[in-house]
Amino acid sequence: MHIVVCIKQVPDSAQIRVHPVTNTIMRQGVPAIVNPYDLFSLEEALRLKDQFGGKVTVLCMGPPQAEEALRKCISFGADDAILVTDRAFAGADTLATSYALASAIRKIGSEQKVDMVFTGKQTIDGDTAQVGPGIAKRLGLQLLTYVSRIVETDLEKGTITVERRGEGGVQVLRTALPCLITMLENTNEMRFASLPMMIHAAACQVRKWNKDDAGIEDVTKIGLKGSPTVVSRVFGPTPRAQKAEMMTVESSSLRDISLNLLQSIFTVHPTLEQDLVDKLSA
Ligand SMILES: Cc1cc2nc3c(=O)[nH]c(=O)nc-3n(C[C@H](O)[C@H](O)[C@H](O)COP(=O)(O)OP(=O)(O)OC[C@H]3O[C@@H](n4cnc5c(N)ncnc54)[C@H](O)[C@@H]3O)c2cc1C
Repeated sequence: MHIVVCIKQVPDSAQIRVHPVTNTIMRQGVPAIVNPYDLFSLEEALRLKDQFGGKVTVLCMGPPQAEEALRKCISFGADDAILVTDRAFAGADTLATSYALASAIRKIGSEQKVDMVFTGKQTIDGDTAQVGPGIAKRLGLQLLTYVSRIVETDLEKGTITVERRGEGGVQVLRTALPCLITMLENTNEMRFASLPMMIHAAACQVRKWNKDDAGIEDVTKIGLKGSPTVVSRVFGPTPRAQKAEMMTVESSSLRDISLNLLQSIFTVHPTLEQDLVDKLSA
């Protein structure tokens, strides 16, 4: 079984700040990490490799320093790593990113057939959750999003059964391979990287593909040229001036506590009381 896992190197959002004047994200000095959601996908892919054998290839589009993120994935157990990197990809939005990654996966598939592609649910910087579905559409793969558990993989029949968390509950879905899966967070626990694996990861080769190596057929679909999205403004939410207030209620009856709460709300929003009376008497 050959599985491709797309991983993105992102700034550690816990350490990001928004510039108070320009409202732009301040990335300087912020450490880069593997997008945390992608690690749930990588772990799931490694579990499938443990079960069925085969190979896990990690794929990233990014600047040269994103090689570090790929090495991290090798230390966890990925077999091959490809960094798609070229100035021509700069300024890519999700449309151009998924086009570039889909082209690279097609190229990987020409070396060895790809049975499954994994992406994270979303990234912690761009946050759009569009790249996975964009890749699936371009490659004509069955798409399984928000997967919480892989129930069964039947290689003879070429099918996979998964649980998918939706708004109304859990769906059980079965589809044909090849497919693209986006894993939900907290669905598994990433294994530790052993010392020998870390040494192997530091020494092994990360393949670097430029736009030609990645099989880009139409250069107008990559980078800024292929990106119709415009980010007009980035801003942090305005902090709330009003502080939460601790209420002391003498009685322990639910009725008294509710009345007390309503009374406090009506004091702050006087028109609400009349609105409520009108609604109830209508
Ligand atoms: C006009 C415009 C210009 C931009 N210019 C730049 C720029 O110059 N440099 C820059 O870094 N960003 C740039 N961005 C941001 C960039 O578009 C997004 O980071 C990128 O498209 C991925 O979107 P996302 O982060 O929302 O991923 P999501 O759709 O949330 O990601 C879902 C999953 O897809 C996979 N994935 C996403 N991106 C990659 C990747 N690059 N490699 C491998 N797997 C991936 C991961 O598995 C991830 O979990 C730009 C955005 C816009 C709109």
